[in-house]
Amino acid sequence: MIEPERIRHLNGNDDGLVAQKPAAFVLYWMQAAGRAVDNPALWYAATRADEQRLPLLVLFVLTDYPAATAAQYRWMLHGLRECAASLREAGVGFSIRRGDPVDTVLAAAKDAALVVCDRSPARWSVLARNALASRLRVSFVEVDGESVVPEAVASHKQEWSARTFRMRTAGAIALYASRLSLAVPTPKKSAHSLGYPSDEESWASYDATPPPAYPGDRSPEQRFSLRPGYQAARERLESFIANNLDAYDSDRNDPCKDGTSGLSAYLHFGQISSLDVLRAARLHGGPGYPAYAEQLVVRRELARNFVRFRVMDYDSWEGLPAWSREALERAAGDRRAYAYTRDDFEASATHDPYWNAAQEQLVRTGTIHNYMRMYWGKMLLAWSRSPREAFDTGVYLNDRYALDGRDPNGWTGVAWCFGLHDRPWPSRPVFGTVRSMTAAGLRRKFDADLYAETWSARGARAGAAIQPGLGF
Ligand SMILES: Cc1cc2nc3c(=O)[nH]c(=O)nc-3n(C[C@H](O)[C@H](O)[C@H](O)COP(=O)(O)OP(=O)(O)OC[C@H]3O[C@@H](n4cnc5c(N)ncnc54)[C@H](O)[C@@H]3O)c2cc1C
Repeated sequence: MIEPERIRHLNGNDDGLVAQKPAAFVLYWMQAAGRAVDNPALWYAATRADEQRLPLLVLFVLTDYPAATAAQYRWMLHGLRECAASLREAGVGFSIRRGDPVDTVLAAAKDAALVVCDRSPARWSVLARNALASRLRVSFVEVDGESVVPEAVASHKQEWSARTFRMRTAGAIALYASRLSLAVPTPKKSAHSLGYPSDEESWASYDATPPPAYPGDRSPEQRFSLRPGYQAARERLESFIANNLDAYDSDRNDPCKDGTSGLSAYLHFGQISSLDVLRAARLHGGPGYPAYAEQLVVRRELARNFVRFRVMDYDSWEGLPAWSREALERAAGDRRAYAYTRDDFEASATHDPYWNAAQEQLVRTGTIHNYMRMYWGKMLLAWSRSPREAFDTGVYLNDRYALDGRDPNGWTGVAWCFGLHDRPWPSRPVFGTVRSMTAAGLRRKFDADLYAETWSARGARAGAAIQPGLGF
């Protein structure tokens, strides 16, 4: 049973206005939750299908997201293949179609008794759901399965800091974490005879390595060492819990150690549920659990809160808090030691080996260690021609190259570098009262030179300690 607070009827047609003709199936438009296991929207749709004695059809719409790279699509599609196989084995239909999400869902819904969808706070997804809510003739139900604490419970307003969000959600986390995991549903009526069309060629859409999309585009260099899909996510989670969770709090800020879970890309594509991850970590418990739950639930869901309440400008300068915008604008005329363009940053062509290493790690593997992500964003601010340009560069590069990018965590992470969810600090040139970082600070925290050597072009050739990505 899915908690009612995760369920929202988007067009008020609670029990379906199936008027024109008998329905052939219940439709689940899978978008944020690319998995068969522990998927509340899928489970809800399967329950409704059983109630109506109908089969369940899952539809995934492959949409061309402007920033995403072909390598990221390949990775997502490999994960989805595994999901489609599990669903088909359980008697659930799975159709993948490439096109506009609204038109494609509307076309599929012609034969549906009702349509179920995921909750995602990303702008394109909110706009698509709004359009569908006004045009669908059948009931349209959203299920919030991507957060531990349902958004409807967590907060009804934009939260200003982790502290306020933590206070609101503290009791609820344990409550939701105690819910049992959801297996792959097996609807009573199999979808095997449905024969619903699927663009099978979609699976191979991004297999060829495309030429650069623009001068300076480095997406052809991307190779991800992470294996995609639920099974791979589960193995990684289990290995993290067995080997790293206990020391998470002390190791997580050292980019030369493999001390974090590395699950963000799986969470971004919904290949594993955050509740599943939390449950497993909680069962293990130990000294690292509280710090891990803080990142996985409080920080991640605070990011979703920001994006939810700033849906039209979470990725633009205007989405930043007024105090930090004013502080940065006041400091905009300060002399900068360096002034790079977006092309310079994209090419890892700054004077700073640590920054260049972080950018190389991002381009080649699709991620940067969290500690270096903060430095990467702060130094964009220090060395761009203006704070606005720095912000736009940060959003652009993170969306383009991060495998876990185009995500509330990414938009919020960049905005954090410019003051979001933080407080004013003593004033400094260029940063104003926004918190600053320095290379000397990195060197005090960890072996920054080892990190730089590992991710420099030379380090990659020599196969240094942290292996650059290979594979997908
Ligand atoms: C400039 C900048 C850009 C960022 N871009 C992204 C991005 O595109 N996608 C992304 O998922 N995260 C982003 N983050 C947040 C954070 O760096 C990553 O979530 C984390 O490094 C992922 O590694 P992990 O899975 O090993 O994390 P772990 O330390 O194992 O944490 C577990 C999970 O908690 C969540 N989490 C951890 N740190 C944060 C955080 N600071 N804010 C919100 N959630 C967090 C993630 O879902 C993560 O997978 C960004 C941070 C900054 C400063």
